[in-house]
Amino acid sequence: MPEPYQFQIFRCKGFCPVCVGIDTSQTVKILKEIYPDLDSEKAIMGSLVFCIHHKQGCKWSDELRKLKAHLNTCKHDAAACPNKCGSQIPRIMMTDHLQYTCTQRRAKCEFCNSEFSGQGLEEHAGTCSQEPIYCEAKCGVRVLRGRMSMHKNKDCAKRLRRCAHCQREFSADTLNLHGASCPRAPIPCPQRCDVAPIARADMEAHLRDECKALAVACTFKEAGCRFKGPRHLLESHLESNAAAHLSLMVALAGRQGQQIQMLKNAVAKLSTNYTGTLLWKITDWSAKMAEAKSKDGLELVSPPFFTSQYGYKLQASMFLNGNGPGEGTHVSVYIKVLPGEYDALLKWPFSHSITFTLFEQGVPNGQGGVAESFVPDPSWENFQRPSLEPDQLGFGFPRFISHELLNRRPFVKEDTVFLRVKVDPSKIVAV
Ligand SMILES: [Zn+2]
Ligand SMILES: [Zn+2]
Ligand SMILES: [Zn+2]
Ligand SMILES: [Zn+2]
Ligand SMILES: [Zn+2]
Ligand SMILES: [Zn+2]
Ligand SMILES: [Zn+2]
Repeated sequence: MPEPYQFQIFRCKGFCPVCVGIDTSQTVKILKEIYPDLDSEKAIMGSLVFCIHHKQGCKWSDELRKLKAHLNTCKHDAAACPNKCGSQIPRIMMTDHLQYTCTQRRAKCEFCNSEFSGQGLEEHAGTCSQEPIYCEAKCGVRVLRGRMSMHKNKDCAKRLRRCAHCQREFSADTLNLHGASCPRAPIPCPQRCDVAPIARADMEAHLRDECKALAVACTFKEAGCRFKGPRHLLESHLESNAAAHLSLMVALAGRQGQQIQMLKNAVAKLSTNYTGTLLWKITDWSAKMAEAKSKDGLELVSPPFFTSQYGYKLQASMFLNGNGPGEGTHVSVYIKVLPGEYDALLKWPFSHSITFTLFEQGVPNGQGGVAESFVPDPSWENFQRPSLEPDQLGFGFPRFISHELLNRRPFVKEDTVFLRVKVDPSKIVAV
């Protein structure tokens, strides 16, 4: 059996049996030139051929004379679109074409049910007023396109609305919430006075300055006046109670005075020296010395200090121009025992050793100075338990340091002198 011929090579040149008809002599002549072994038209028409769409997958193969008839039904052969859109479409794709791509197809809009040509439907899509679409303001609602502008103006939860009180704009779904805090929204006075509703922001001032129903306390409340009443009565209360208020104030000042004294005592306690060592810094030395020289018996006293928290209370004193045997030539220093809070529990007479040291200042290689110590003798009057009205003199050194030595060595620097008074319970005299 001979291999079938393939005629599709002629199709596009205008003279194949399909295009121009199989019985023209011209065709036969050409075919003879190409296929010299075909000698008669009958033989040609009887030769075996494939369908011209063989390469597209058509399996048909038969005598050439039957090709034209086959092509009328070959599903790979193109046919004119029955809608007369002008397209030539392979039969196998015609259904698709008619349904989806033919510009002359008839199609219904799924939303409004109107009929359109294919092209018309494409133009209609995206504008159909019956199509439900999501609100552009993102309120989450789906609305028919034709009703969207009404929705946006009337129903949309995200449409902007103006607060009637403060004129600011809010989305409709937050306006109510805003109303509960709008500073311009009028609210009634919480004290139920007869004033008309007041803007929320002004209420505080109303209650403070105007409200007639709010009971206010008398301005002398802190002093003890118990008056409380409507604001408009306060003024007459103040006028008719001036004397009473004044005496309340006097009593208050008295109480405060006591409190201040207590506080002073507490502060003094906090700054009290409980170490048993006093470092006494005496400033303005030259002025004090000059004063001492002009006034007989002028005694300079130190701040009191304690030997321990519950110990003896002591105070140093100094006669800059001396007293007794040192008068006029020496500086005298003394210590005395003052009455203290815990004297009842302490051992008497006081018997700790005392050391006075006057420091040289700015001396290289350590502090130089003058030091004197003593251990109280149990028989000395000065160290018995002091009475509450101490009048006894201190004990100490009338000739502690001479004015001459004081001026020769650097005891006074920047018009300041340092005297240390050290109490030592071990009784051993330390220098
Ligand atoms: Zn075919
Ligand atoms: Zn068509
Ligand atoms: Zn429509
Ligand atoms: Zn909306
Ligand atoms: Zn508002
Ligand atoms: Zn009010
Ligand atoms: Zn009052």
